[in-house]
Amino acid sequence: MGSSTPETRADILVAGAGAAGLAAAIALADAGFSVACVGRVDRRANGRTLALFEASLRFLKALGLWQKLRAKSAPIEKIRMIDATGALLSAPEAFFAASEIGLSAFGANVENDVLVETLADHAEACPGLQLVEDLLEDVRYGADLVRATTAAGKVVAAKLVVAADGRASLARTKAGLSARTWSYPQVALTALLSHEKPHRNISTEFHTRSGPCTLVPLRPLEGTPHRSSLVWLMTPEEAERRRGLDDEALADEVARQVDHLLGPMATGGARGFFPMAGMSADKLAGHRIALIGEAAHVFPPLAAQGLNLSLRDCAALVDVLEDARDGGEDIGAVRTLGAYQRARRHDITWRTNGIDLLNRSLLMDVVPVDILRGAGLFAFAMIGPLRRAIMREGVVPHGTLPRLMQKRPRLRAVPP
Ligand SMILES: Cc1cc2nc3c(=O)[nH]c(=O)nc-3n(C[C@H](O)[C@H](O)[C@H](O)COP(=O)(O)OP(=O)(O)OC[C@H]3O[C@@H](n4cnc5c(N)ncnc54)[C@H](O)[C@@H]3O)c2cc1C
Repeated sequence: MGSSTPETRADILVAGAGAAGLAAAIALADAGFSVACVGRVDRRANGRTLALFEASLRFLKALGLWQKLRAKSAPIEKIRMIDATGALLSAPEAFFAASEIGLSAFGANVENDVLVETLADHAEACPGLQLVEDLLEDVRYGADLVRATTAAGKVVAAKLVVAADGRASLARTKAGLSARTWSYPQVALTALLSHEKPHRNISTEFHTRSGPCTLVPLRPLEGTPHRSSLVWLMTPEEAERRRGLDDEALADEVARQVDHLLGPMATGGARGFFPMAGMSADKLAGHRIALIGEAAHVFPPLAAQGLNLSLRDCAALVDVLEDARDGGEDIGAVRTLGAYQRARRHDITWRTNGIDLLNRSLLMDVVPVDILRGAGLFAFAMIGPLRRAIMREGVVPHGTLPRLMQKRPRLRAVPP
């Protein structure tokens, strides 16, 4: 790094401008930190959506983002789970209604590109936040500062890096933080569908032997009143075959797979094919680095937990860093960031293992496993208190929620 290289200074460098990175950058800037967020914003439609639950919506509301997203999303009021494994002892249908836990909806479903674009537009107008649309090429951790260089040669120096640069995180690797990775014999096919019958704000999961096939409600568009998004886990061979189908043939296969639940279907535009993998970082923080989102944890898209978990990372990190700053401590010190590690470890481990178990139980064509899975779903279906506890845990996890996710979020301090 030559001495003539212009250097940008910030309290915090957020690596990555995906949904988690942008959300963290906005929340940290809102909390009064100076933030540089480095990453390329991907505004392309990719045929996939994100279901965000109550705690995430509270976070978005607290940051003034939900007001911009509400009209672009569809509420999820009910969730149906149907055993389509063809197992000898098939599980009963499980039906969850948000009204049972006092909510009008579990959350809302929004197109991935719409969410990212809304976050990016908000970030661009956010005081104290600089969005640098470039990739990081190098990150060096010094005693008091981290210096990162972008592909275009810009240098950013900060007290802390928030690594939100995805599963192959450069910021994590350069910090020497290790991660455990694994894969599943599955690919998730995603697409946006229109259909004849209304979805009635119900998300329906068909549990098949290769994984769930899920229809999630989408908002209506002019001329297309009934729309849903598809997340269908299948074998890599089936994914390859379906990659070759035209829109009409694919829509017919989806309609058959979901027992024509929503009538004839049509699809068009981008489709996504995501090989399924898992990743768990051994530590969530180190010297001048904190990991959030898929830089910290990756698991298959069952029960729509990934970004919801990532937004809890963001909100918890804001609490820890605000407390450290207000207490006059170094926000990048290992001791400070230990509090973040402690706050997040349990939630992340619990979700990663839970999703892994549920996914593997579908893939295993073994009678005792089918019985256990069936018994679990039977218990959810029949035992009201258990069903309500599971619903609450899915949308507003137990324990102390970060301040930005509490029912009455803290009021923003108004600068004098
Ligand atoms: C099919 C599917 C459906 C899903 N559905 C849901 C759902 O309904 N609800 C839910 O909560 N979650 C869902 N998820 C999970 C969710 O998509 C992820 O948790 C979330 O997108 C992760 O966001 P992220 O910002 O951490 O990672 P990413 O979206 O991977 O973003 C990482 C960013 O870092 C950037 N980057 C990488 N390297 C560098 C570098 N060197 N310099 C700068 N930037 C870099 C990348 O370009 C990217 O923009 C789903 C996932 C899949 C695959």
